[in-house]
Amino acid sequence: MIRVTLLGTAAARPTPGRNVSGLAIQHAGELLLWDCGEGTQRQMMRYATGFNPTCIFITHVHADHILGIPGLLRTMGLQGHRDRVEIYGPPRSRSVLEDAVNLGTHRVPFPVQIQELEPGDDVERSGYAIRTFPVSHGVPAVGLALIEPDRLGRIDVARARALGVPEGPDFGRLHRGESVEVDGRTIDPAELVGPARPGRKVVYTGDTRATRPVEDAARGADLLIHDATFGDEEADRAQETGHATAREAGRLARNAEVRKLVLTHLSARYADDPMILARQAREEFPGAKVGRDGMVLEVPYPPGVE
Ligand SMILES: [Zn+2]
Ligand SMILES: [Zn+2]
Repeated sequence: MIRVTLLGTAAARPTPGRNVSGLAIQHAGELLLWDCGEGTQRQMMRYATGFNPTCIFITHVHADHILGIPGLLRTMGLQGHRDRVEIYGPPRSRSVLEDAVNLGTHRVPFPVQIQELEPGDDVERSGYAIRTFPVSHGVPAVGLALIEPDRLGRIDVARARALGVPEGPDFGRLHRGESVEVDGRTIDPAELVGPARPGRKVVYTGDTRATRPVEDAARGADLLIHDATFGDEEADRAQETGHATAREAGRLARNAEVRKLVLTHLSARYADDPMILARQAREEFPGAKVGRDGMVLEVPYPPGVE
């Protein structure tokens, strides 16, 4: 299961109902954080995401995306965490991230490794990768995609037995696409093995205009979490400040043929009544949802791919 918990859905500053940017991803027992605005650690407690991320990915070093790092690392230390934590940021983010890690007089009692990522870089994890992609926000910034590799096609075990394939290594060979010999007859894997089954993809834009590279990165995503700071009436401001409108996010989601769209990074102006953003996005992408703090998004395999 891939489980995404939205920890903060407000732009720039928190409101009584929404914290600033952060989301938690749980994948096969591992916890990742994507962005870590002020107060993220308290949101992790409140929404029970677990408290020991192995990696923190930062889309860009605007304060509303990083001020939660010092407090979170201190609390992890107080709770006895001693394993290494990896922090990944966009180009030219290292010195700011180092400052965030080292702020205060107590040293963090575990190793913290900081690494800058260029758009297009992959961070390989066990069973998936995090791939960065270019965004347009007026400062060095990347979007983030969790990508699972395709899995082997399903093997028709009953038919394999009926053809006399002995259980054991020959099953594995067929599964990997190699032909095998049974009683002098060559068995082609295409007879027994279905097409490769696509892995899942979760895409988070961070702060950005809705650009073609973002659309390319989002193509076919099972879940897209997109900047929707403004509504139509503030489209000019979105352009000036390097953000997207809800409608632009909806249009991009439709063009990229994603399965699910969730809007985030809402301007305080819409915090209490975000339905105007939902309506505008849904005119482009009917299922669009407005994110809220604590929203849990489970990402199943597409129907028929299980
Ligand atoms: Zn922001
Ligand atoms: Zn920003």
